[in-house]
Amino acid sequence: MALKHSSALPPEMLRVFETMPQPYLILSPELYMLTASNAYLQLTGKTRAQLIEHYLFEVFPKIPDWSHEEGGISHSLDTVLKTRKPHQLPVTRFDIPSATDPLHVEERYWNTSHTPVLNADGEICYIIHHTEDVTAQVIAERNLKASLEKETAAAARAENLSLQMEKLFDEIPAQVAIVTGPDLIYEFINPQYKNELFPNREVLGKPVLYALPEVAGEPIWDMLQHVYKTGETMAGHEIHIPLADEIGGPVKDHYFNYVYQAIRDEAGKITGVLSFKYEITELVLARKRLELNAQQLTELNQGLANAYEEIQATNEEIQSANEELSATNEELFRAQQSMLTLNDDLELRVELRNIELFNAQAEAAAERDRLKRFFMQVPTGICVLDGPDLVFELVNPSYQQLFPGRELLNKPIKDALPELEGTPIIDILKSVYYTGNTFEGKELLVPLARTKDGPIEDRYFTFIYQARYDADGTVDGILVFVFELTETILTRQKEKENEQRFRFLLNAMPQQVWTARPDGTLDYVNEVVCDDFGQNMDQILGRRLQEFIHPDDQHLSAQKWKAALQSGKEFMVEFRLKFHDGQYVWHLARALPLIENGHIRLWLGTNTNIEIQKNNEQKKDEFLSIASHELKTPLTSIKAFNQLMQRTTDMHKLTGFIQKSAAHVLRLEKLISDLLDVTRFNAGKMEYNMEAFNFLDMLKDSIESTQQATTSHQIILQQADEATYTGDRFRLEQVVNNLLSNAIKYSPGADKVIVNCIVHPDNSLIVSVQDFGIGIEEKNLMRLFDRYYRVDNTAMRFEGLGLGLFISAEILKRHHGSFWIESKPNEGSTFFFRLLLHSAEKPEPVIRGDEFYQDSTITLVYNKTHNRIDADWTGFQNLETVQQGCLRMLDMLQKNQVSKVLNSNVHVLGNWSEAADWGNTEWFPAMEKAGLRYFAWVHSKSVFSQLSAQKSIETLRGKIVFSFFDEVKEAEEWIDSK
Ligand code: ADP
Repeated sequence: MALKHSSALPPEMLRVFETMPQPYLILSPELYMLTASNAYLQLTGKTRAQLIEHYLFEVFPKIPDWSHEEGGISHSLDTVLKTRKPHQLPVTRFDIPSATDPLHVEERYWNTSHTPVLNADGEICYIIHHTEDVTAQVIAERNLKASLEKETAAAARAENLSLQMEKLFDEIPAQVAIVTGPDLIYEFINPQYKNELFPNREVLGKPVLYALPEVAGEPIWDMLQHVYKTGETMAGHEIHIPLADEIGGPVKDHYFNYVYQAIRDEAGKITGVLSFKYEITELVLARKRLELNAQQLTELNQGLANAYEEIQATNEEIQSANEELSATNEELFRAQQSMLTLNDDLELRVELRNIELFNAQAEAAAERDRLKRFFMQVPTGICVLDGPDLVFELVNPSYQQLFPGRELLNKPIKDALPELEGTPIIDILKSVYYTGNTFEGKELLVPLARTKDGPIEDRYFTFIYQARYDADGTVDGILVFVFELTETILTRQKEKENEQRFRFLLNAMPQQVWTARPDGTLDYVNEVVCDDFGQNMDQILGRRLQEFIHPDDQHLSAQKWKAALQSGKEFMVEFRLKFHDGQYVWHLARALPLIENGHIRLWLGTNTNIEIQKNNEQKKDEFLSIASHELKTPLTSIKAFNQLMQRTTDMHKLTGFIQKSAAHVLRLEKLISDLLDVTRFNAGKMEYNMEAFNFLDMLKDSIESTQQATTSHQIILQQADEATYTGDRFRLEQVVNNLLSNAIKYSPGADKVIVNCIVHPDNSLIVSVQDFGIGIEEKNLMRLFDRYYRVDNTAMRFEGLGLGLFISAEILKRHHGSFWIESKPNEGSTFFFRLLLHSAEKPEPVIRGDEFYQDSTITLVYNKTHNRIDADWTGFQNLETVQQGCLRMLDMLQKNQVSKVLNSNVHVLGNWSEAADWGNTEWFPAMEKAGLRYFAWVHSKSVFSQLSAQKSIETLRGKIVFSFFDEVKEAEEWIDSK
């Protein structure tokens, strides 16, 4: 066979080449194949005969790549021939038929070099072609590169997310901390954790127990250790943690909702604990306060049960999320495993890089995992709104819990929560999206439905909207952190309402009401206390009741207080309190301790004014001593006359003794029957026998019998109008008898008593009894009709029980009569009583709309010009007429919406003081409510009527301004100036 090339090799050289373990091909400078190593033949699947002495490109046809300037084999051979220097080709792909299936080619990569062998003249004798299959290496590198790119992107995303998280941690209104190592050393705390829990303490870098010694022994400490030891996540609701502002300082009660979650390294070993808390102390304390109210307690318990259920549900969701996550982790792990196997045979350098990469990837995955777990577990709503349409991309269970059953995920917020349309929320979100500025909403009212078709409710939220950025730093979504405070706000509102209602109630109470701390310092008093002591609340709070107690009563009060404090039982004592006018007034104090957890929290007390009862008691005591004295005097006389009667035989003397003794028996009888009458009145058992009788006859009978018993006075019946009256003759005679005997008794220096019986044109009968005796001071006038009441300076000089006028008044009341007195000290008194004659027919009242009313006792006019009511009372008034007229006035005031009244008593002839009490307790408060502010009162000539007027406004405290006048003109001027 003719050689088609210039070079020849000795056969032994050729043998050496053939047996070399590497794939070699020897070429002549003309590119004829001289020989090939066995390894080359094996690689190319050719026999030596197919190659030797053949042109290279005849056996291996050129493919376009081969002529490629840098990469092709022909280019490489050309370069060697030109430069006579070795040339290395870059790794080239050249697919070869599959060994197992010759119809298919396999992807192969080759590392090829050409080395010239020169003769002594420097000419090329032949070229050594050496090629190596580097397919496995190339594919592994390619895979590695792809995964590297993937992981870099993932790491960038994780990094971005963790940056966002860090920002979120800094801004969320919850407390986040990370503690690491067996000593649980504080490694990270967010600003809220520091500011809200420990503004004055440095905790970072310190073990928990060292930083917060007060938690030792608390359940929270055990839980934290438990999480660190077992890795079990612990979440809870309303855990109690006592914390101090400073180490060693007093501890305060704090309450939290919390999650403790173990932090693990890549080997799965626990390295620390992540603590997420948010404080609900305010809610808990508010609720605790509310627990005083039993009903609210029940409701609240229900609420707590629901909350507990919610937590249960959340825990279950967390559980399933965890399971999913661990499944994902397993997959990831499997993927990693196969990647490792694939890379096994890479160079050491590549392996090392791979391990590093794997670690980074595992770290990133763990980080992502941790964040996601954290997101899913926090007891706070977190969601991610994606893109300008704000589509719910991520919704954690707590967020979903805010809208149970509503579909949120993958929906734009406008579609998911359509009720937000028209609220500021949408605009706020848009603004966060377009400006990137974080928005923080505190306790904001957002009307939202809980369930899909549920009602829209007023709900309150605290939330943060924070922009989310993509890799280029452009906003591409919003991170939402939210928790609902509806319960807190409603509880707070309810508490406020309750407190207002409570205050209103306490102020409406007619007694003094107070609360005091366990040490006795007052921390609340109602308006009655302020009014009584003439000081405002600030002046009283912080002081002790003791300061207002009469010095003589302080010892007993202190003793009782001490005893109550020791026993925790009711404190009850009577003492005198010093009022703003310097007067001491008797009060009954009662106080009950409010005990919580075995400690007295506060005292709730009332002081009831018992001045009247005390006075009555005193009067009663006095009365008993007077009564026994009064009863004993006639008895002693009767006993003496009896002894005299026994001793004497003189008939004349005997008759005298019997007469005198009989007079004392009569007096005794009168005293006893008065006492019996009083008992009957009290028991409501006084019986009246009503029938028509000749009133004048009765009057005359009474005058006659009284006249018979006295020699000192002459009783003159001055005017005696005839009248028939229907009533109890016997009882009315008792009234006249009382008045006559008093007139005589209390005018020891005078010699006459004048009686008048006049039938008035208004069909009433007026009886007056006038004496010229000691008279009565104005200040005593109103009380004469009280039981046992006796004017001080007469009590010692005149015998009596203080029952006569009381009995008379009761009898007259029963006859719908009125009663009054005119009196001047040392000049004498006139006692009047008035009875309505039954024949009298009441004329119909005149009524014109809401502006005019007139009957026999009152004329009411709505005075448009001065926007006031003008009331003119006429004639005699009793409880019935006063009540009727007053109610008409109230009606007119309300209908015309007036705040001023000109009330004239100028035409009043007399009245019954009983109406004063009703006016004071019922009518004036109703008038005030209806809008009355100014009341000008023109006096009657009757002193008794004046006193009644004074009495009816005596204890009023309110917004009405009163002024008394003698002339209508003055009253008009005053009221119109208002
Ligand atoms: P008694 O006369 O038994 O004391 P009364 O109820 O009749 O009881 O009178 C009550 C008080 O009214 C008397 O204690 C006295 O102070 C005063 N009083 C009654 N009538 C007169 C009178 N005509 N003049 C002065 N004081 C009177």
